[in-house]
Amino acid sequence: MQSCIRTWWHLEQIPLKRVVCLRFNRLLVFRLRLKFTAPCESLESLMEPNPTTLPPLRPGTLYLVATPIGNLEDITLRALRVLKECDVVAAEDTRHSGRLLQHFGLSKPLLSYFQFNEARRGEEILERLRRGEKVALVTDAGTPGISDPGTRVVAAALRAGLRVEAVPGPCALVAALTASGLPTEEFHFVGFLPHKSGQRHRQLEGLKAVPGTLVFYESPYRVVKLLEELALLYPTRRTVLARELTKKFEEIASGFPAELLEGYRERTAKGEYVVLVGPDTA
Ligand code: SAM
Repeated sequence: MQSCIRTWWHLEQIPLKRVVCLRFNRLLVFRLRLKFTAPCESLESLMEPNPTTLPPLRPGTLYLVATPIGNLEDITLRALRVLKECDVVAAEDTRHSGRLLQHFGLSKPLLSYFQFNEARRGEEILERLRRGEKVALVTDAGTPGISDPGTRVVAAALRAGLRVEAVPGPCALVAALTASGLPTEEFHFVGFLPHKSGQRHRQLEGLKAVPGTLVFYESPYRVVKLLEELALLYPTRRTVLARELTKKFEEIASGFPAELLEGYRERTAKGEYVVLVGPDTA
């Protein structure tokens, strides 16, 4: 049905004289259809639903837009469309996200939304949504709300009966877990551990009873400390260090915590890390 409508549309573009010819020459019909079809469209693509005909963004919606965790090629087509068509981009760091938009040839008003102004800016975002604006929320990298700002304004928007849509894409947790070789059926995302030794120790003790793979985010300044803690508390659990994912120096190292520690005797931890601990198989 859709292809009939398209064929008719194409014929409509052809002057009357040619339409008369068309009635008598089926081959010519085919040739003219090819000629009068927009250059980027193939016959096959005319048969398929065209993704660019998706409805425009919905007014009054908060879009959670995932952005690359290193490799800019990882941005999705939908993320680009949302960033292009939204009214405002709420960003964790407006300078950082401004550069990302610029890289893709986009220019949008930016609103800062980060950990310490979440409450105040959250209210402003809700007010904009009530006025029917389309707001895209981005963080510095990856998926908003995953160890990043976002959860608070999402909860508030939903409480207020406003619309929230995820625009999924890169996330260090998922990239690391799927490339780690550790079981993925059951996993527990911890995110960042507290900085204080006592609190870390208690939390790690408590996590021993949690089934499945454990996933931690860790800064390069504390990754050796985490390996030391794991060597003490989880000596026999297979551990994976996923470093600089999607970037030039990407590295995935696997072993027991003590073995991985060995590798850091003579090198300094640099870059971004996800640390994964496999389930207890003993
Ligand atoms: N929202 C992000 C996401 O969806 O993954 C996470 C943001 S959190 C503030 C930053 C942490 O994510 C880093 O400290 C690191 O643990 C992890 N991370 C981000 N990018 C990474 C990468 N390219 N390789 C490894 N880990 C990464």
